[in-house]
Amino acid sequence: MKILVRQLGPEGVDLQESFAVDRIEMAQTDVLRFLQPFEIKAKVVRAQDEIVAKITSTSRFASFCSRCLEELEQDWSARFTLTFSTKEYPEFVEMDEEIRQELILNLPVRVLCREDCKGLCIDCGANLNKQACQHQHAVKNS
Ligand SMILES: [Zn+2]
Ligand SMILES: [Zn+2]
Repeated sequence: MKILVRQLGPEGVDLQESFAVDRIEMAQTDVLRFLQPFEIKAKVVRAQDEIVAKITSTSRFASFCSRCLEELEQDWSARFTLTFSTKEYPEFVEMDEEIRQELILNLPVRVLCREDCKGLCIDCGANLNKQACQHQHAVKNS
């Protein structure tokens, strides 16, 4: 995604691009697999010597709940801001590498099927969202 600095007026510019998942150079695994390209939207403004790009990225991934291990699909989004100096970049800014790094930093780490997922019984392996078992467990505050 490229910003043409000289064409950047005070009203700013909206940019949009879709990043194929393999451009992120992140291993697609069964544990975390993106199902759609990353849709990148940027609102770019210039403030004196600074170029500020406010970026939103959305996609959708498949993974497993880290508590109950059920398969799930979830929408994903990330917001971040990139700034560049017009002294360093008087003509244009190519933001792909910065965007790639931000996407990697914002990848989902610990995914839950729902906030209050009860997880698996540590004794019998029952999925406690779906069934009760005869084991008693102290409520964990984690
Ligand atoms: Zn779960
Ligand atoms: Zn049990």
